[in-house]
Amino acid sequence: MVRGEEILISLDAGGLHVFAADLDSFRNALTAENHTLKRALTDPRLLSGIGNAYSDEILHAAQLSPVALTTKLKPEEWERLFAATRNTLRIWIDRLGAEAEKEFPEGVTAFRPDMAVHGRYGQPCSRCGEKVLRIRYADKETNYCARCQTSGKVLADRSLSRLLGSDWPRTLEELEALKKK
Ligand SMILES: [Zn+2]
Repeated sequence: MVRGEEILISLDAGGLHVFAADLDSFRNALTAENHTLKRALTDPRLLSGIGNAYSDEILHAAQLSPVALTTKLKPEEWERLFAATRNTLRIWIDRLGAEAEKEFPEGVTAFRPDMAVHGRYGQPCSRCGEKVLRIRYADKETNYCARCQTSGKVLADRSLSRLLGSDWPRTLEELEALKKK
């Protein structure tokens, strides 16, 4: 159990630890800068230990878009995001902890077959059955369900794919700049 938690929080760059945070401090950390949820959740200066895979799982659990802007979230969406972040990390700490008793887990941020949405491009959403979509960038991808998270809007259209083509953080900033106009 402890070992799983250590893995999840091993990239400590000064970000908030969600299990030590309340809703207000969580919201304050994520709104310090106006970013997409995907970027804010995975920024280790804001939140501790949430990688690409877990951020997909959290956003799917919260039913929020990866490209929603932190400054635009409604109060009930913050409550959903905060609860989903804690619940998702707790589930994975427990799973990895149970496995670590048998053998040390490797590549915990990569695809795992029991994830709800991450790494499941083209497969049915675990909640609604719609096909899981993706935004590809560099050697990674973000997976999401349009029906559950973006009111049916497909984010991986051609212009967005081109925009996100090279570097995730940099192109996300470009994406955010576009969305502000
Ligand atoms: Zn769905």
